[in-house]
Amino acid sequence: MTDLIKLRGVDKYYGDYHALRDINLTIRAGEFFSLLGPSGCGKTTLLRVIAGFEGVSGGTVMISDKDMADVPPNQRPTNMVFQSYAIFPHLSVGENVAFGLRKSGLNKADKASAVEEALSMVGLAGYGKRAAHALSGGQRQRVALARALILKPKVLLLDEPLSALDKKMREHMQVELIRLQRAVGITFILVTHDQEEALVMSDRIAVMFAGEIGQLDDPETLYRRPNSRRVAEFIGKMNFLPGRVTATGDTITLDIAGFGVTDVPAVQAPEGATLGEAAIGIRPETLAILFDGEKASRHEAAAVVDEVVYYGDMTYYDVRVNNVPEPLTIAMKNMIGRPVLDVGAQTRIAWDERAIVVF
Ligand code: ATP
Repeated sequence: MTDLIKLRGVDKYYGDYHALRDINLTIRAGEFFSLLGPSGCGKTTLLRVIAGFEGVSGGTVMISDKDMADVPPNQRPTNMVFQSYAIFPHLSVGENVAFGLRKSGLNKADKASAVEEALSMVGLAGYGKRAAHALSGGQRQRVALARALILKPKVLLLDEPLSALDKKMREHMQVELIRLQRAVGITFILVTHDQEEALVMSDRIAVMFAGEIGQLDDPETLYRRPNSRRVAEFIGKMNFLPGRVTATGDTITLDIAGFGVTDVPAVQAPEGATLGEAAIGIRPETLAILFDGEKASRHEAAAVVDEVVYYGDMTYYDVRVNNVPEPLTIAMKNMIGRPVLDVGAQTRIAWDERAIVVF
C-alpha cells in the first residue's frame, strides 16, 4: 500500500491548550484507519486538521505528497461524515444525496445515476424518492454516507458515525462499513472512543492520550502486545501483578508474585528491559479456572473465588491467589456441563507464560 497522508510534527494549540503534540503519522491508501482514545484526547481535532477545518500550529499535513497548508477543505481529496448525521429532513433521500453534487456541473441524468449508484453502495437502492424524515437512524446514517461517497473522495473521514445508533444497529453498521470500505477501496479514517469498534473495523489503530499517539499498530498487536499500561487498560481488561525481572537477554526471567519464576521471550517485555521491579500483565481470557480433573497445559495455582459475574455466554470470576495482592479476573466461556462456581469455592487456575506482557 502506498502512503497517502503524512503528518509530520503536527502541533495544535487552542489558545494555551496543547491539543495535539508533535503528531507523526502515515496513513496508507486504501486502509481502514482508526483514531481511538478517551474523550478529549484530540481525535476529532486530528481529523479536522486532516480535513482542513482546523489549521495547524506547527508541522505539516501532506496528502498525496502535496503540502495541504494552503489548501482549503473543499479542495482537499477528503470528505467528512459527522457524528450527528446532518441530513435535511424536508428533502427526499435522493435530494439529500445529490446535495453533494450541487457544484459538480453534472447534468440531471448523470446526477440521477450517480445518486442511484451511491444509494446502492450503502444498501438503499430504490429509496431515492422517500422522505428523509421518515428514515430510521441506521438509514439516515447510510444517507449521510452516500452523500459523502458520491463525491468520490480519496479519503472518507468518519467522526463517531455510529455513536447515535443502538447496540444491535451499531454492530450491523460496523460490518456494513467494512464491506463498503472494501468495495470502494478508498481510505477510511474513523474516530471512535469505542475500543471494540476500533478492533473490529480497523486495519490499523492509533491510540491517543492527551494529544499524543500512545501506540499505532494493527488490532491484534495492540491487544496482545500493548506498549504501556494505559494502552493495555484502554483496550480490553488486563490483570497486573507485581514482579521482578531477574535476568535479561533473548529470554527474560521473571519472578512473579504468587506465580513464581518463569522465562518469557524478550518480545514480551519492553525493548531494553532492565533488571528490577516490573508490572506483569495478563489478560482475563488467558487465565482459566480448572474444573474437576482438568490439568493446566503450562502452569497452575490454587485460588479462591472472590466474585462471580454471569454474562450468559461468559462468566467473569475474580479469584484470590496466595501472595498476589489484588484479585485476578478470569473470563471463562460458559459451556454445556460446565458449572458456574460460587463465591468462596476453592479451585485451581491455569496460567500460561506465553500470554504475559511485561511493563
Ligand atoms: P470527544 O471524543 O469527546 O469528542 P476528542 O478526543 O475528539 O474527544 P477533541 O474534540 O479533539 O477531543 O478535543 C481535544 C481537546 O481540545 C479537548 O480538551 C477540547 O476541549 C479542546 N478543544 C477542542 N476544540 C476546541 C476549540 N475549538 N477551542 C478550544 N478548545 C477546543
